Amino acid sequence: MRIDIITCLPEILNGPFNTSIINRAISKNIAKINIHNLRDYSEDKHKRIDDYPYGGSSGMLLKIEPIVNCIEFLKKDTKYDEIIYMSPDGDLLNQGIANSLSLLNNLIILCGHYKGIDERIREYFITKEISIGEYVLSGGELASAVLIDSIIRLLPGSISDSISALNDSFQDDLIAPPEYTRPYNFRGIKVPDILLSGDSKAISRWREIQSIKRTKKNKNLYSNENK
Ligand code: SAH
Repeated sequence: MRIDIITCLPEILNGPFNTSIINRAISKNIAKINIHNLRDYSEDKHKRIDDYPYGGSSGMLLKIEPIVNCIEFLKKDTKYDEIIYMSPDGDLLNQGIANSLSLLNNLIILCGHYKGIDERIREYFITKEISIGEYVLSGGELASAVLIDSIIRLLPGSISDSISALNDSFQDDLIAPPEYTRPYNFRGIKVPDILLSGDSKAISRWREIQSIKRTKKNKNLYSNENK
């Protein structure tokens, strides 16, 4: 999978892709992430990428030309499945959206900043809008990192034990059961004995019951809309 991110603050994205599962997926060529600095696509002699909104409201907007220049440059030699704008009023990200995007090959992800972007970009160039939650961030960069993480961990080979991604909460009808590791006894707080019983059937049954309990408890968090 190839992901091209368009941003006016590429430095925010230095960290999220350089460690752990995402980094491994990149080194194994399972995913390629290209970060494009919007300023490089500005035709303005001062490399300006933002301007005041028409009609006189507060804040600055990302201008249409640099964004469209960048999208058109990328589209010259790649066919994109989706051009996504990270937006607080987009489709609320859930496992179902991550699953379906993980089946695609080429994505552009546009990060807004300041007050957002010129509306004409959303109307004419964006094919999908995604929100990571009903709150407002300063920019789309962190949101894009969340989206990309949720997609890349699903790509075959990203997680060494591919079964584990399928067992995650929201992948089936159940939230994942509690898990424990050593020590068995931490300051008197013990691991449930069943997990040390060696009886794999009983352990599976226990895990299933715990999952069902958690799912019921989290009814608000987990609904069929999440699929
Ligand atoms: N004025 C806009 C908010 C702009 S926030 C409004 O009221 O809707 C600046 C940028 O941050 C947005 O362009 C978007 O790309 C990003 N952003 C903010 N909150 C987000 C969220 N919850 N999910 C995804 N992107 C978000």
